[in-house]
Amino acid sequence: LSERLGGVFDRLTKQGALSEDDVKTALREVRVALLEADVSLPVARDFVKKVQSQATGQAVTKSITPGQQVVKIVHDALIDVLRGEEEPGALKIDNPPAPILMVGLQGSGKTTTTAKLAKRLKDKQGKRVLMASLDTNRPAAMEQLAILGTQIGVDTLPIVKGESAVQIAKRAKQQATLGGYDVYMLDTAGRLHIDEVLMDEVQAVRDVATPRETLLVVDGLTGQDAVNVATEFDGKVGISGVVLTRMDGDGRGGAALSMRAVTGKPIRFVGLGEKMDALETFEPERVAGRILGMGDIVALVEKAQETLEAEQMERQMKRFKKGLFNMNDLRDQLEQMLKMGGMQSIMGMMPGMGKMQKAAAQAGFDDTMLRRQIALINSMTKQERARPELLQASRKKRIATGAGLEVSELNKLLKMHRQMADMMKKMGKKGMLKQAMKSMF
Ligand code: GDP
Ligand code: MG
Repeated sequence: LSERLGGVFDRLTKQGALSEDDVKTALREVRVALLEADVSLPVARDFVKKVQSQATGQAVTKSITPGQQVVKIVHDALIDVLRGEEEPGALKIDNPPAPILMVGLQGSGKTTTTAKLAKRLKDKQGKRVLMASLDTNRPAAMEQLAILGTQIGVDTLPIVKGESAVQIAKRAKQQATLGGYDVYMLDTAGRLHIDEVLMDEVQAVRDVATPRETLLVVDGLTGQDAVNVATEFDGKVGISGVVLTRMDGDGRGGAALSMRAVTGKPIRFVGLGEKMDALETFEPERVAGRILGMGDIVALVEKAQETLEAEQMERQMKRFKKGLFNMNDLRDQLEQMLKMGGMQSIMGMMPGMGKMQKAAAQAGFDDTMLRRQIALINSMTKQERARPELLQASRKKRIATGAGLEVSELNKLLKMHRQMADMMKKMGKKGMLKQAMKSMF
């Protein structure tokens, strides 16, 4: 029996589904694209492997090639990886004064980003911000922050010669508390490469300030090194998020994927230029498109999917309005429901479906139920599907046995079909159908 059922589903999935070969071929291209975008090798390899198992067997949309379909699947998977659980731009800065620690390599854009972020917090959230430079090695760096502060109208901690980074951090905390600031930002010194001295200093500052947010600032043009930087800083200091700078450049921003995959920490902002307002909330869709560099194909597939859905809906509506609602139509509906997360959620979205929803809840609808009903319909002949009124006792028995279910289940299905057909007809007359269908898609 399960063999026969399995056969039914095989036939369903094989038709226009992605074969392992299709997927492998397309993913070879994708891998090259990721590496060209400077995604680190191990991250690219893992990602491709994951998508491979996900994509195989998925349906191919009409008028789209398997390769194009895979690109779209990859694109969506990229967005999934890039998108964190949290809102990207939302920082934990309650309980004033909230310390924000900025870390990263020298030249990554820490000082610039500190000022940009301070301006953003001031302008968009009305926060009072104090900035402090802990870059004791380079007096010019402290000056740089002070100048930016004046430019954007944000206070900076007065510079005292000869202090250590930890001493400055303590003073910043004190000043922020006394001065009634909402946030104080600590702009740390960077080295050209990760080294022990740098890490020790940053750790000491962290222990003094106990930051609410520790943001790792990374040059978006960083290539294979992105993984090392992220691993080191997260391991030694512990970061809460990432800011990618220089995303206004030519680079495709593969560092975003590397960072996210390695640390699992959210990417919060992207820097898009040297100006003080060139900082934006991270948008996974945009960055995914850029990393993959196959925007045309993604758009093409999306368009094809939309067109197909619109066509199907148009066709179905025409039939329903005429009072035509056979078992093929019902199967389409059931499959849609399965695809969209079950009966309950669908009917919850449709106006005027409250009664049906209640009935469905009582009948104990879930995905298993939907699959069984689809199996029952698949077990009917073409003729029976088109004209369910033909179903007499002997046919019913055959159909139920074919699906491995009881005749009583089939009777329930037939009853539901009649109710739905009635409802469709009524709604079609009242002109409610179009509205209901629209709200579903
Ligand atoms: P730090 O050493 O990490 O503090 O780096 P800085 O903040 O001093 O930045 C180094 C250089 O990068 C400066 O010239 C900045 O203007 C520039 N920079 C920072 N962020 C961006 C960005 O998002 N885009 C561009 N194009 N330049 C940036
Ligand atoms: Mg700096």
